[in-house]
Amino acid sequence: MTTPPRPRLKSLSCATPTAASSCMCGRDLFASGHHQVLALIESHAAHRTTCQLHTPQDERNAA
Ligand SMILES: [Zn+2]
Repeated sequence: MTTPPRPRLKSLSCATPTAASSCMCGRDLFASGHHQVLALIESHAAHRTTCQLHTPQDERNAA
């Protein structure tokens, strides 16, 4: 079973909350600060379900 490429979400620091969300579609976002990071994480999770490069449609359209 192969895992399709997924958007990456990295926690860059523990002291000051920071996160980066990048995706094959060109999405490349950075957030710092508690609220921004939480917003980015939610946005990132939502993006994983909406990005055309990462939807399950890839499997259906494989043929
Ligand atoms: Zn994307």
